Amino acid sequence: MPSQISQKHPTGLYVLFFAEMWERFSYYGMRAILLLFLIDTVKGGMSMNASESAAIYGIYTASVYLLTLPGGWLADNILGQKKAIWYGGIVIMIGHIILAVPAGSAIFFLGLTTVAVGTGLLKPNISSIVGELYPEGGARRDAAFSIFYMGINLGSFLGIAIVGYLGERISWHLGFGAAAIGMLLGLVVFRIGSERHLKGMGEVPPARISTPESDAQSGTNKKLGYGLVILLIGLLTVLQLSGTIDMTTAQGLAKGAGVIIVIISASYFLFILFAGGLTRVEQKRVLVLIILFLAIALFWAGYEQAGTSLQIFAERHTQRMVGGWEVPSSWFQNFQPTFVLIFAPVLASLWIFLSSKSLNPSIPVKFAAGLILLGLSFFVMVAASNIAVQGNLTSPFFLIFTYFLHTIGELCVSPVGLSSYTKLAPKRYVSQLMGIWFVGASLGNLIAGIFAGGFDEENVMQMPALFNQVAIITTAFGLLLLIFWKPIKGWMGGIS
Ligand code: GLN
Repeated sequence: MPSQISQKHPTGLYVLFFAEMWERFSYYGMRAILLLFLIDTVKGGMSMNASESAAIYGIYTASVYLLTLPGGWLADNILGQKKAIWYGGIVIMIGHIILAVPAGSAIFFLGLTTVAVGTGLLKPNISSIVGELYPEGGARRDAAFSIFYMGINLGSFLGIAIVGYLGERISWHLGFGAAAIGMLLGLVVFRIGSERHLKGMGEVPPARISTPESDAQSGTNKKLGYGLVILLIGLLTVLQLSGTIDMTTAQGLAKGAGVIIVIISASYFLFILFAGGLTRVEQKRVLVLIILFLAIALFWAGYEQAGTSLQIFAERHTQRMVGGWEVPSSWFQNFQPTFVLIFAPVLASLWIFLSSKSLNPSIPVKFAAGLILLGLSFFVMVAASNIAVQGNLTSPFFLIFTYFLHTIGELCVSPVGLSSYTKLAPKRYVSQLMGIWFVGASLGNLIAGIFAGGFDEENVMQMPALFNQVAIITTAFGLLLLIFWKPIKGWMGGIS
């Protein structure tokens, strides 16, 4: 990759790089202090318990990724990607401005919802314009995505450092305000840059370029979409009325969101498998996509605990004094983007080196590696929490090593998964299946939130057992992938 990265790229890529960098600055910056703000009782926070705040955190982060489905649809059908990014950015900025106003919980939730809606509009569309810059696909497009992934992580790094510091040390709302300024900078970059360097791109909604085939498909999609909405409303009503899930509480709402996400993804996969008009080869490839979906959801469910259980661990059980100064606990989240920035080129070079020796691991093996590394990281947390339950502060190196394992795992699954989805998806379903990829992130984020509900201060003794559960489940799934990698690779029908 380093040689590909040094190739000349169109200036448009850097416009998207900086726009996405500032958007991620605002997203991860705000996210870094979200849980702390929700549980805070002394500095003007929301004084919620861990279970309630983790559920809200889970619903929020899951919605951000779930809303990429309507966001992608709006761009494809009505707005075109460029307008979707522009309006999405404005909505995100307004959301952060609302959060910056210290005006009670109703206003706060309005702000949170606004940010989620805007991100759903911006996030999928900015990535697809990156792809559009390289219609020929191939290695240059892969290299462009690696550069773009660096932008994402540079933004996260700066956001967590600046918004995290301002929010934790000065005032929560000042932190949220800084996130708004970040998004404003992203909008300025996008406005000025896209006029000159993204001319004619993402302007016409792709669905407007219709063929009889695509019209028939969109008719069927519409009917199925309506059917699914009715099914979901019916199911949620039954669950609420029978008392199975109480959606008037944050925890119940998180479970309801889980039902929605699982039903949407299961019905979509069933539809495409049995009514999508696929050949045998394509059906087998979709089976692989289902396995990768489950794997990525599980991966993010562990990884995204950086903002939930691991954030609580950093705040309450980690030694953070350096030369008489206490490091803000949210800064620990910064080890993930920092390690991405350091190790992304290393791993990319490793894959190229292994390919040159015809030893490049197959997609299921890389996913297995990612999950096993994640599992190991949680065994590290079991050891750390065994120290913490005795009432001692733990060395920061436990969390740092955990995040190191997370990131190496992330680099085995995230970029690989993104490109494998574009390669394995039947051509006419590529953009919908890209949406489903983000639904995997949505499910993972939700689980990360629901799971952290067990981390209330009075349940402290259960911490090792909770981390142990994550460690065992993720390692076991990884081992299963490792055992069955050959048949899975066979189903991929020649794609690697
Ligand atoms: N960190 C990456 C981003 O923000 C991937 C996140 C995800 O898909 N869960 O784009």
